[in-house]
Amino acid sequence: MTGATRVLVLNAGSSSVKYQLIDMVDGTRLAAGLVERIGEHAGRLVHTPHGGDRREAVRPFADHAAALKAVAEELAADGRGLDSPELAAIGHRVVHGGKRFTAPTVVTDEVLTEIRRLVPVAPLHNPANITGIEVARGLRPDLPQVAVFDTAFHTTIPEHAARYAIDTAVADRHRVRRYGFHGTSHQYVSRATARLLGRDPAELNVIVLHLGNGASASAVAGGVCVETSMGLTPLEGLVMGTRSGDVDAGVVFHLHRVGGLSVDEIDDLLNRRSGLLGLAGENDMREILRRVEEQDDPAARLALDAYVHRLRKYLGAYYAVLGRVDAIAFTAGVGENAAPVRAAATAGLTELGIVVDPELNSVRSTEARVISAEYSRVTVAVVPTDEELEIAQQAFTLVHPSH
Ligand code: ADP
Repeated sequence: MTGATRVLVLNAGSSSVKYQLIDMVDGTRLAAGLVERIGEHAGRLVHTPHGGDRREAVRPFADHAAALKAVAEELAADGRGLDSPELAAIGHRVVHGGKRFTAPTVVTDEVLTEIRRLVPVAPLHNPANITGIEVARGLRPDLPQVAVFDTAFHTTIPEHAARYAIDTAVADRHRVRRYGFHGTSHQYVSRATARLLGRDPAELNVIVLHLGNGASASAVAGGVCVETSMGLTPLEGLVMGTRSGDVDAGVVFHLHRVGGLSVDEIDDLLNRRSGLLGLAGENDMREILRRVEEQDDPAARLALDAYVHRLRKYLGAYYAVLGRVDAIAFTAGVGENAAPVRAAATAGLTELGIVVDPELNSVRSTEARVISAEYSRVTVAVVPTDEELEIAQQAFTLVHPSH
């Protein structure tokens, strides 16, 4: 491969920017880092070049423009500045692409306007993503900026699964439907699972369980997503670190009318003070597991049991949605590391052809690996996710279709 082979991946959040510079020849991370606490007094930049020492700077970054300028300076100090002819594209993670964006898209003014029109359905995420794109465009106006959407992989979900059973006119007016999130990860992991099994993704039905701070499940039939657990927002579905996942919508009315909580307070409760944190005062699964194992702590036990119970409900539901399941893939922080969660989520499912081997499950590794018994009809695997690489690949393929 010759010419421009590098992609800078940017993930701009409300007060942070994470980035990786990836060489698409072999997937080498030439640099990785983040700027956090943008707009606060004590901001922080951490930059790690390939083969070099980690550099850290604690100073204020007034806004995203200042943060990205600092990132550009760090990259330039390694001799890999944004002006490098080897840079093929900048790939941007964009959380909400609505119904319109079904694939990675080169950013134009019209595309930016459309991403802006989606702010009402993603008020926490899309504004920061837009800022990231605008600043990067200002720094390299001639370079393709590619938006890669968290929702895109889920746009194939059939209408009967994407619709809430509410008045169609009201739903359409306010764009209320199930969009799903973590799509880049579900897409990457479902394909990586096929690779691990030496199978063609087109002939494989996979349930992907992305269990990070946020958590979601998806059912992927022959490489195409047919169902996922997050909805209009990333609140629906599994029990998460700080999010409740599924609740009866009546809970919201009740807390407002009877509990006297405002809509903003309920939003904060369900998104930031629920899930493992709400049940056990702690959102990190490592700490929950430690409290269960070392102290037999009842609150931690309840949180773990509720987490696993919800996971099993989705596993069973997606089994029925797919009809035939070839593989179940665990990924992200909890999925890749928490053997007890994987064991509990799959226990007693021999009748469904799911048998996890306790020894294989307890192996600690950063590699994709099978953890089911040889005779298990469904292959259960741990498949590390790599959203940055997927974003870089999608952006690169779009601007260099021949590679
Ligand atoms: P994010 O959704 O923020 O990208 P990650 O995918 O990195 O998050 O997952 C973070 C979570 O993974 C942590 O909050 C923690 O609960 C969990 N985790 C990480 N390592 C372990 C471990 N060894 N055992 C159990 N849980 C872990």
